[in-house]
Amino acid sequence: MVSVRRYQPSETVDFVVVGSGASGGVIARELSQAGFSVVVLEQGPRLTARDFEHDELKYWVLSGITNDPVTSPQTFRKDPAGTAARRPTGNSLVYARIVGGSSNHFTANYWRFRERDFHERSVLGAIAGTGFADWPIRYAELEPYYTKVEWQVGVSGLAGASPFDPPRSKPYPMPPLPVKSSGVLFERGARKLGLHPFPAPMAIASQPFRGRQACVHCGFCMGFGCEAMAKSSALYTMIPEAEATGRCEIRPESYAIRVELDPRGRAKGVAYFDRERREHLQKARAVVVSANGGETPRLLLNSACGRFPGGLANSSGLVGKYLMFNQGAAVHAVFEHELNEYKSVQVTRILHDFYDTDPKRGFYGGGGIDARMGPQPALWALASGGDLPRWGADYKSRLEAFPRSMASTGHCTSLALETNSVSIDPVLKDAWGIPAIRVTYKDHPDDLATARFLQDRSVEIMQAAGALQVWRGAVREQTGGVHLLGTCRMGDDPATSVIDKYHRTHDVPNLFLCDGSSFVTSGRGQPTMTIQALAFRAADHISRFARRHEI
Ligand SMILES: Cc1cc2nc3c(=O)[nH]c(=O)nc-3n(C[C@H](O)[C@H](O)[C@H](O)COP(=O)(O)OP(=O)(O)OC[C@H]3O[C@@H](n4cnc5c(N)ncnc54)[C@H](O)[C@@H]3O)c2cc1C
Ligand code: SF4
Repeated sequence: MVSVRRYQPSETVDFVVVGSGASGGVIARELSQAGFSVVVLEQGPRLTARDFEHDELKYWVLSGITNDPVTSPQTFRKDPAGTAARRPTGNSLVYARIVGGSSNHFTANYWRFRERDFHERSVLGAIAGTGFADWPIRYAELEPYYTKVEWQVGVSGLAGASPFDPPRSKPYPMPPLPVKSSGVLFERGARKLGLHPFPAPMAIASQPFRGRQACVHCGFCMGFGCEAMAKSSALYTMIPEAEATGRCEIRPESYAIRVELDPRGRAKGVAYFDRERREHLQKARAVVVSANGGETPRLLLNSACGRFPGGLANSSGLVGKYLMFNQGAAVHAVFEHELNEYKSVQVTRILHDFYDTDPKRGFYGGGGIDARMGPQPALWALASGGDLPRWGADYKSRLEAFPRSMASTGHCTSLALETNSVSIDPVLKDAWGIPAIRVTYKDHPDDLATARFLQDRSVEIMQAAGALQVWRGAVREQTGGVHLLGTCRMGDDPATSVIDKYHRTHDVPNLFLCDGSSFVTSGRGQPTMTIQALAFRAADHISRFARRHEI
């Protein structure tokens, strides 16, 4: 048993990391394994596998583990000229507020980006009115780190199964999860149409892996923490390995409220509230913020100071801008026989035939389509919009069809628009008295067109698979999301980006940002594989800078 290291806030550690989620967990593990002292400030509590429950209402409606709109409220508006208000249905930006962040309750689809994702702007040209841009890195630079995610965090899948896969240096460490009824039907329908379905890569152990057991197919996966420790969340993978170094302290219920600068303009530490709302300053030689695409820009904007009156590291004025979510659209299909989709993981088959933008379609965008169980029974009963029956005999037949139902879901692009943003609400504060997030968001018409296009393809696949009934979910303008991307984008030019290609802010030499906020384009859904690959890569570079005393 390793005794976990504790530091005093007054002790200057090498790194303080804000956030212990998908990215923060990787950063903490990599920096502590490289020999540095690390304190991770995490606002949420630390739960164990035994604490997770199968309670749809608590986890999906009552913010059981997610940011609670009562204590951590946000406002929303579509238009930058409009007045933002609290949404009746809760927060716009949703994430798990516990150690391990949203890697605890995510669905665990783990797609790599393809080569073109990183330089699509050069291939397709500018898109008027958008911030569509190339990344400052290429797929080849990230490939070793994608492989590291697969082998260190744990991803199951079948290399070479998709003809559209980008090059890879190693196969997956585990075989794919067993195919579900939804996967079999999806595959049947897709093949009839000449498409190329393949086993979904998932950050879930399909066999015992690095001391964790394999998935026990409990069926409460999307939106729930894993009681079997089979889901490869940071809580079960990166965090214990960081602590095992004896150099990393994970400090839960520690809410970072400000990054502080010294008189030379260098970060000197992070001010935070502890469980009793006492304020401390954790001193550090360098700061890495991995608080996600919503909270990272909020922390910087709330850290405004004399040197940076518009927000820390915000000389470009772009902190919080270019928020992206990933559009998407579902189709619900009913078959003759029982599928019993309530068991096991959400997704076992996907296809990437429509991933690339095709100029013949007349709009930018593309994505992947997967076969999934869809919502659990209570949420299925509450789902509305599109063609879904809501009343009377049709509604009853929809409820009765649950065991014979599945979903086919498209996941697609969101264009980067400067007007889509995370900013600070001028009035609203959270329960700690800290200014709240204000979200401004309106989908680009091409994002909606892509979602509709993929929905049409899902309908065709389900019909080809023999569905008796197909209902379309609504394709709506998004008022929030769980893929929180792009709000501190990376780039070579300090005038048009917040961080450089090593995740160092252009303005503060010892302040790094690494999470979904670093994205330049949205990919096609399922961003977390790339978030973690970026984190492994960032940690390598940050360690190198620290060893050379360049921080
Ligand atoms: C229901 C659901 C399903 C999903 N399914 C998928 C999927 O299938 N595939 C996929 O790729 N992605 C999926 N996602 C998205 C995925 O979970 C996120 O992309 C990923 O977790 C983001 O990683 P991150 O490190 O940027 O942030 P997070 O994982 O959100 O971690 C940020 C952490 O920082 C903490 N924090 C924030 N602010 C502060 C502060 N001020 N002080 C201290 N701590 C702070 C938060 O509490 C949190 O623990 C899903 C998300 C949800 C909610
Ligand atoms: S389905 Fe498998 S991975 Fe998902 S929560 Fe249950 S045991 Fe964990």
